[in-house]
Amino acid sequence: MEYDTIAAVSTPMGEGAIAIVRLSGEEAVSIADKIYKGPGSKRLAGVESHTIHYGHLRDPKTGNTVEEVMISIMKGPKTFTREDVVEINCHGGIVSVNRVLQLVLSQGARLAEPGEFTKRAFLNGRIDLSQAEAVMDLIRAKTDKAMNVALGQMEGRLSQLIRKLRQEILETLAQVEVNIDYPEYDDVEEMTHRLFMEKAHFVRGEIKKILRTSEQGKILREGLSTVIIGRPNVGKSSLLNSLVHENKAIVTDIPGTTRDVIEEYVNVRGVPLRLLDTAGIRETEDIVERIGVERSRAVLKDADLILLVLNNSDELSEEDELLFQAVEGMDVIIIINKTDLPRKINIERVKQLAPTQRMVSTSLLEDEGIDELEEAISSLFFEGAIEAGDLTYVSNSRHIALLGQALQAIEDSIDAIESGTPVDLVQIDFTKAWELLGEIIGESVHESLIDQLFSQFCLGK
Ligand code: GDP
Repeated sequence: MEYDTIAAVSTPMGEGAIAIVRLSGEEAVSIADKIYKGPGSKRLAGVESHTIHYGHLRDPKTGNTVEEVMISIMKGPKTFTREDVVEINCHGGIVSVNRVLQLVLSQGARLAEPGEFTKRAFLNGRIDLSQAEAVMDLIRAKTDKAMNVALGQMEGRLSQLIRKLRQEILETLAQVEVNIDYPEYDDVEEMTHRLFMEKAHFVRGEIKKILRTSEQGKILREGLSTVIIGRPNVGKSSLLNSLVHENKAIVTDIPGTTRDVIEEYVNVRGVPLRLLDTAGIRETEDIVERIGVERSRAVLKDADLILLVLNNSDELSEEDELLFQAVEGMDVIIIINKTDLPRKINIERVKQLAPTQRMVSTSLLEDEGIDELEEAISSLFFEGAIEAGDLTYVSNSRHIALLGQALQAIEDSIDAIESGTPVDLVQIDFTKAWELLGEIIGESVHESLIDQLFSQFCLGK
């Protein structure tokens, strides 16, 4: 397929040693050639593919030299988009990179939409949809593990699994057609049911296996949403600060974050924590005190992890007990803080209130117990879990939803077979599962979905 030639700045805006303006499309090389002034009479049109060239950029209208550059020429199809790709390496200032961009736009390139390079890679068949989405995950990855997951997906690990399942389903459907068209035996109906049943169980098991990883995959991608609760003055803010300071804070520019909700990202031994705001902490306190346990449970219900802070130097109060009630059944780590002060808290009572929860003692003032706390957090997350890398994690909510729907279609088919429903109805469920799985890798997806997905990318990607 041929598309027009697009261009965009592919490096982050700001000051850096170099910045890259990237072009893709049929005219990419000729546009670059129009503004290129190399040593002697060198032209870019004739150069070999995958080579890099030193020179200057000159505005053909004014004859002025605009920039000193290195230009990479990569001819399709061995490129990211499968089209001809030109990358202009220029100086990394905002002014210089914009000048270069303006220059290529003035010579016939069109400014790329967000994600358009990746979209072309998809449309030109170089990558499938789940791989394209992985490119986006990779850009946004907040920890090494999340990055590994995205890399695995980009290499097509999820796609391979999905293709294999679709193939199984398709083969079964074909086999059933043959059975129906050429009934050589009397027990076609029974045979067909048995065949369906066998495959349905197999596919169901496989989808479930993939889905089981989704919980962790999502956490790796989006962070474990963590809430710190406790009475006033027990040390919640100190805990937040110490977690943020001890651990390299990672990106905080998540879309949709309102200004009054403060989120801090920290990386605790490979587990990304999304620490939900102190304002929220105050709110929970109030709600527990004034309105009661039920309301506060509702506030806390979206948290993956709760850090409940108690004061070692104070007796357990009624409010503390209410907090225990509010977090019942959730993943909680109890933190007994202020161990540098004489103990007044009744530890036996704490153990009674939370018999199975992890408990850690800290003195945030003296910087003690933080290691143990981090250990508790990471073992809570990785307990019984298989490390990323061994598994194909699904972390994308679109994929998870589609896998869920495909699973449902397979469950429906199992019900149908068990209740002796005619074969053609079972075929419908199987076909539906096949189509839903296809949507994950972008076979059988609607064009508007594709546009919407790619528009979430950043510019220049
Ligand atoms: P919050 O109201 O729960 O957010 O509590 P803060 O983090 O603001 O802490 C309340 C007070 O307790 C502050 O003066 C802290 O310096 C102090 N504090 C926090 N952690 C400790 C600790 O481990 N030992 C002692 N002695 N004081 C602490």
